[in-house]
Amino acid sequence: MDFSFSAELLDLKERTRQFVDEIIIPAEPRLPQDVSDWVELRGELQDAAKQAGLFAPHIPKEYGGLGLNWRECAVIFEEAGRSLLGPQALNCAAPDEGNMHMLEKIASPAQKEKFLRPLAQGKIRSCFSMTEPNGAGADPNLLKTSAEYRNGKWIINGRKWFISGAIGASFTICMARTLPSPNGRGAGGEGRSGATMFLVDADNPGFRIVRKVPTLDLGWPGGHAEVEFVNCEVSDDAVLGAVGEGFEYAQVRLGPARLTHCMRWLGAARRANEYAVKYASARESFGKTLSEHQGVQFMIADSEIEMHAARLMIWNAAYALDQGDKARHETSMAKVFVAETVNRVIDRAVQVCGAHGIAEDWPLAMLYRENRAFRIYDGPSEVHRMSVGRRVFRRLKAKG
Ligand SMILES: Cc1cc2nc3c(=O)[nH]c(=O)nc-3n(C[C@H](O)[C@H](O)[C@H](O)COP(=O)(O)OP(=O)(O)OC[C@H]3O[C@@H](n4cnc5c(N)ncnc54)[C@H](O)[C@@H]3O)c2cc1C
Repeated sequence: MDFSFSAELLDLKERTRQFVDEIIIPAEPRLPQDVSDWVELRGELQDAAKQAGLFAPHIPKEYGGLGLNWRECAVIFEEAGRSLLGPQALNCAAPDEGNMHMLEKIASPAQKEKFLRPLAQGKIRSCFSMTEPNGAGADPNLLKTSAEYRNGKWIINGRKWFISGAIGASFTICMARTLPSPNGRGAGGEGRSGATMFLVDADNPGFRIVRKVPTLDLGWPGGHAEVEFVNCEVSDDAVLGAVGEGFEYAQVRLGPARLTHCMRWLGAARRANEYAVKYASARESFGKTLSEHQGVQFMIADSEIEMHAARLMIWNAAYALDQGDKARHETSMAKVFVAETVNRVIDRAVQVCGAHGIAEDWPLAMLYRENRAFRIYDGPSEVHRMSVGRRVFRRLKAKG
């Protein structure tokens, strides 16, 4: 693996850092408290990113992006992630970023024009509907939402929750279990082959936002919503990719998507640590600055070491994705390590900064609150550990 960067990437990294420091961070006090208030701020910051030539780094050039590969994205997303608003401005925030990637890989040309192009331009937002109350969660095989083929239409029924960005989204990608039908249209039955992804317009009369789920984190446009599909009728052209391939496609989305979360959150951890270092250098306690106390030095050192290891894991997994590998092992390992590292680094920064750590005057309290869920979404740490462990034993068995 080559660790060198092109001059263009270094320039882009520096310009992104400057943009975040000079335009994005000063806008943080305007971070909307209400999910519906995001439109104006997001639009304004995206216009600024477009002007600065930083918009949509991950999107292919034909859709107006910068066309970076995963390893290049790792560098830029980390810079953008120093503020929660950075990825929103660059249009590389979840869930849109993962949806764009999946649409680019799987959607038909007509679907790309209808959904991907305006999404890539930041004109619309989207969401991804997979998790269900008492259904799909850590174990996606518990998927209950159904799609039945009747009289030339798909009828979707089911309830989803924690759907990020749902309020105000123009469409959702819905994962449903496709039931057997007399004409053999649906890949039916239990197990991995029975799921399909559907592109559902938010104004479909069969789709409804039930409520915004009140959560610990507040920094997502469109919040996390409970949504419902009631006899939601869509035609064949709403099928994303092939019928019955939903679980495979989920991996196309979730593998890179969990890694891009790692990239962005690493930037947030770095920012938290910057505050801790600065505070510890200036604040006196027991006759010397905090930075001169070994206990504090050790905390800062642990954060430095873990962030460095996290970055190398991200780059390694990104490199594997760039080689065309699915990189399931690498992205799972990175997800566990980075999510837990970021949690620890932010927690240490809060501790080093004392009461300032939990005051809303500084971004630490916000980062602490916003980051906790990362150990749960895109696969809880325990599930990734299970996958990694299983793979290790499978490999041993395969060797005989
Ligand atoms: C902030 C946030 C945003 C989200 N956004 C979206 C979204 O946009 N779209 C969407 O579809 N979903 C979204 N989710 C849902 C998320 O994907 C699920 O929360 C996650 O998959 C876990 O499912 P669950 O909450 O049902 O937990 P459960 O399945 O009930 O699991 C609970 C806990 O059990 C433990 N556990 C589970 N399996 C094992 C195992 N095999 N071994 C050991 N321990 C285990 C884990 O600790 C896990 O956290 C979001 C969640 C959060 C918190």
